Amino acid sequence: MSTDLLQLQCVKGRLHALNGVFLNENRYDHRCCGQPQNACRGTTALTPRFAPNARNPTLLERSMLDQSELLNVLSQNDRQVLFDQLTEVHFTTGDLLYEPDQNVDFCYFPLGASIASYFVLTDDGSIVETLMVGREGALGGIVSAGIAPSFARANVMNGGAFYRIPLDRLERVKRSSPAVDALFTRYADCMMAQVFQSIACNAIHTIEQRAAKWLIAATERIGRNDIAMTQEQLAAMMGIGRSYASRVVQRFKLDDIVRTRRGGIEVTDAHALSRRACTCNARVKRHFERVLEGVYPAV
Ligand SMILES: [Zn+2]
Repeated sequence: MSTDLLQLQCVKGRLHALNGVFLNENRYDHRCCGQPQNACRGTTALTPRFAPNARNPTLLERSMLDQSELLNVLSQNDRQVLFDQLTEVHFTTGDLLYEPDQNVDFCYFPLGASIASYFVLTDDGSIVETLMVGREGALGGIVSAGIAPSFARANVMNGGAFYRIPLDRLERVKRSSPAVDALFTRYADCMMAQVFQSIACNAIHTIEQRAAKWLIAATERIGRNDIAMTQEQLAAMMGIGRSYASRVVQRFKLDDIVRTRRGGIEVTDAHALSRRACTCNARVKRHFERVLEGVYPAV
């Protein structure tokens, strides 16, 4: 039986591509529903995937289904409308997507472990992260309709594959597909919720809580516990001094919550780290679940 031609319905009732190991007729090892291998037995629907596309269909279709949770929400027909306009591109960590005041020409969908973040540049030259976007979301043209200048800088934080679509084509797709239009409207609502929560978080939560929150959010999106990031980068991103970030990371290390290596931070006890974090991630996740169920990454 070919795994490339199947979808399955997992215990959460969502259709997914089969991206793991086919074990037998009733059990699959897949990561898409967040269930461990032995817990996911809800493979109730096996259906043919949508028709192959002329442009390397297997790779693109698999990527869309498996790796962009936001696009996975769409029905097969609506996915196909968007799929015809998407191009897969690859970025390395640190690549620039947008600069402030430059026109935003493309909308990007991070795939798999790819992450990008928006940064605000301050008058003293600091660059502070305001929003992290992984496979649950998209960047560019979310709130505005059509080409408009970017307010913030957007950088790739974890390199990998992205889909992109020119904004003028995205607008045409939105006009032709009410479902795609609604998806972007709903995602814009979730993105605003993240921004609101981020404002409150920066105002009232401690550096330790925020650092723990950020590390959890990053590991959830990347899908592994090892984050390529120095303490200097963590500090700069949070808009705090390096000494503050170092002290927090040292406390986490002493409590066996993280390990550090050259150029990286590894989370060794995610549960303990969660207890140190504020509840901002959880609040945003709850909103996602109400507005776009199943899209927000889970550990
Ligand atoms: Zn917070």
